[in-house]
Amino acid sequence: MTVDAVGTSTLRARHVVPLAGPPIENGWLRIECGRIVAVGGGTAPGPAFDLGDVIVLPGLVNAHTHLEFSSLDVPLPGEGGLPGWIGRVVAMRRARIAADPVPAAIHAGLEESARAGVTTIGEIATACPPAGPARPGPRLRVFLEALGLSAGAGAAACATVPRDLAIIAGRGAAAGVSPHAPYSVASPLGRRVLEIARRRRLPAAMHLGESAAEAEFVATARGPFRELLESLGAWPAIPPRLLTAADWISLLAKGPRGVVVHGTFLDDDALVRLGRHRGRLAVVVCPRTARLLAGTLPPLARLRSAGVRVAIGTDSRASTPDLSVLAECRALCDGGLTSPAEALRMATVHGAWALAMERQAGADLVVLQPSRPTRDPHEAALDPTTRVAATLRAGTAIHGGLAGQRLSACSAARGGSSRSRSL
Ligand SMILES: [Zn+2]
Repeated sequence: MTVDAVGTSTLRARHVVPLAGPPIENGWLRIECGRIVAVGGGTAPGPAFDLGDVIVLPGLVNAHTHLEFSSLDVPLPGEGGLPGWIGRVVAMRRARIAADPVPAAIHAGLEESARAGVTTIGEIATACPPAGPARPGPRLRVFLEALGLSAGAGAAACATVPRDLAIIAGRGAAAGVSPHAPYSVASPLGRRVLEIARRRRLPAAMHLGESAAEAEFVATARGPFRELLESLGAWPAIPPRLLTAADWISLLAKGPRGVVVHGTFLDDDALVRLGRHRGRLAVVVCPRTARLLAGTLPPLARLRSAGVRVAIGTDSRASTPDLSVLAECRALCDGGLTSPAEALRMATVHGAWALAMERQAGADLVVLQPSRPTRDPHEAALDPTTRVAATLRAGTAIHGGLAGQRLSACSAARGGSSRSRSL
């Protein structure tokens, strides 16, 4: 590879797929100080490192996951839908508290993500924000999760949330907050947490419309969620004030950026509000999890009609067999819901926007090695026989044959002087 004295390198590839515009056959891109400063086709300007018959894409964004479950070999069973699955998750969590394997699972998830071409992750952290990885890995937006239906949960959050946000920042990750879901967060708690985020200009994420039983529970306090909460000892003596998905969408929209996770069963009112706030809100769908726990793929046509950006997440390995964003894209395409080109846009540019990391993520790359010659790089990217050859975060390889190498090392003094652009 060619890295000159000022930390510039040029890569050439059979296909370069930019964030905007059509794929470039026999393309090249120039990286300077960890940033992409030029993209083009034909003969590269100056010496270039030829990656060969590969596809270079923007780095993949897994906009929603829970890395604490990354050490699971197989997902938990989906019987009983979301309430049944949550019961199994809670039982597993309680059983393993003593062993505390969470940090190891998080590191395993980060490494698996890098191997899958993921350069940016929207992570939901419960009580344990992940420590920084031992070596360079994907970027993290860590959403601090809040759960509670009791009357005192809101006041308690005022003390713990600022403390835990400081821990996240101290560990080098971007922070956010995540009131969990309408069936697990009382109104005062969610409002207080979102207010903290709004004042600090932090994004927020919330699971909304994940189950068909959610709206019934919010309206009547009955149904499978009530039975679940009582069985877990989490239903308070004083019934909590609950909010609808539409109410939560309006509250999320008061912050700088909000993520609605799943959105499988949103009613018309919620969709109208999503559309009204599409300049601040995005939906993250998790296709394989929706199929397991809701028996359906995400309602992409309805979300599209609301005009809202849709990104892609894997959710956790408690509901999917791996952390492959490309596999999630394949599920949408195989279900006839979208084209490979649109799915990849959801998995890159929309994901970065949803996490409010569009400026940083624009410099990240994934190099895919198709198993056979291809004319359509979008289709080839989603071919299950295609291999992730390398993953680069800001010019530094975090997976693959280039791992550990910096393609564009440069001094801090030079780093601030050049203009960058996204792939
Ligand atoms: Zn989730």
